[in-house]
Amino acid sequence: MTTLRGLPAVHTLLADPRLAMAVARHGHTVVVEAARARLDDMRAALRANPPAVNGPASTPADIAAMVVDAVVATLADWLEPRPRRVVNATGVILHTNLGRAPLSVAAAEAMRSAAEGYTDLEYRLADGRRGSRHDAVAPLLCHLTGADAALVVNNNAGATLLMLSALARGRGVVVSRGQLVEIGGGYRIPDVMAAGGATLVEVGTTNRTRIDDYRAAIDDLTALLLRVHASNYRIVGFTEEASLDALVALGRSAGVPVVDDLGSGSLVDTTAFGLVAEPMVRDSVARGAALVCFSGDKLLGGPQAGIIVGDRDLVARLRRHPLTRAMRPDKATLAGLHATLVHYAEGRALTEVPLWRMIAMPLAETAARAAAWRAALAARGVAADILPGHSTVGGGALPGETLATMLVALRPADCDAFTAALRRADPAVVARIAEHRVVLDPRTVAPHEDAGLVAAVAAAWADQPPSASPSDAGVTASAAPAAPTSPAASSSPATGSRSVR
Ligand SMILES: *Cc1c(COP(=O)(O)O)cnc(C)c1O
Repeated sequence: MTTLRGLPAVHTLLADPRLAMAVARHGHTVVVEAARARLDDMRAALRANPPAVNGPASTPADIAAMVVDAVVATLADWLEPRPRRVVNATGVILHTNLGRAPLSVAAAEAMRSAAEGYTDLEYRLADGRRGSRHDAVAPLLCHLTGADAALVVNNNAGATLLMLSALARGRGVVVSRGQLVEIGGGYRIPDVMAAGGATLVEVGTTNRTRIDDYRAAIDDLTALLLRVHASNYRIVGFTEEASLDALVALGRSAGVPVVDDLGSGSLVDTTAFGLVAEPMVRDSVARGAALVCFSGDKLLGGPQAGIIVGDRDLVARLRRHPLTRAMRPDKATLAGLHATLVHYAEGRALTEVPLWRMIAMPLAETAARAAAWRAALAARGVAADILPGHSTVGGGALPGETLATMLVALRPADCDAFTAALRRADPAVVARIAEHRVVLDPRTVAPHEDAGLVAAVAAAWADQPPSASPSDAGVTASAAPAAPTSPAASSSPATGSRSVR
């Protein structure tokens, strides 16, 4: 340890080759500020906790090296691109902690192009007058969903809050007790209801709610009947739910609009992939829901957004509400969303939107990819097995549904240390631990990421402490990812089991 006077001066630190390089790269000012910040910390620590008089002394060179390490780490913290790119080898396709849907090439390009220059975001090129950003995607959304009007806000949580605030403040909203969802990240239907100033009118029971329960709850103060898709859980057994058709019929006779929060929603029939049916937006609109809301970055596979489609008058009321201004999407989001929607309009979503390519990826393709990884790893001296396993959709869609996959499985001496090393790689690789193995799922890894993944795994393998030589005790097991929609049982991203936010 050192004393206050033993700390190096800033100009001494800058003479260190690593900091000289940092100055060349990032400029003088930020490097000096980082050095001052770390020196300030150390001074404060020394004042709070003076070193023992006869404690072990460090040489000035040791101390300088320690400070330089801290400055380099600070500069990386401040200046390296964030959020960092990671390789998602978890097999959880819509991993909320990893940023949900990867965008199509066209959507990413549209976002880059819009971001880089000026756009006609709120300007009508036809007559040079002021326009509305909401006109950018509304026509296409109406075309794709069959709705009369559409509105886009920052996310679906915002869409729900907006609808409740604009249409139900100070009034009642009837919801089934089986649909009082917590999505994760503190988003719970009763809390959103309170935030929107609406009164939650719970009806039915957790497992059974009948249309008569809704009917009995309607009074003069009822503003909406709300249906919420149980996105991340399932109620099985002795269950009953009022159908949307019955809710719409009841709402019409009572003069109360039905709002359908689909959560993910889908523009594609998920049963075509052997999955259960995720509610389709077009279907809710056709059945007469007055407003339907869904996420832009769940099964749509676009940028983060909340999409509301439905009745023209109600959407007009939403557009006039001040929260709409507070939640408006920016030009890049709208550009990415538009490009994503074009894939659906052109019938190319299954090939262009990465999410659908991953869902549609046949088992044979995951097997071929896994075999290629194993061969590449073997060439670098890493022994790996191939095991059957399961990928999941995640992201608050299709809970409990799995897709058969082939996993590359490793048995490092210490799975936690190994996954930590993978996370430190560049690009970082996020894997899962299952049955004392580290498993890597090709389904969620883009082919252009293969080389980075193999390099990261080989480096982490070579980095293991030699004393703890990997055991090869064989466990043949099929491993499924912990559903990312389950309550957070572990906070390790390696398990892919954090709650959906
Ligand atoms: C995911 C979800 C939301 C929140 O959507 P975000 O786009 O993540 O804000 C709201 N409601 C339901 C039912 C959901 O599944």
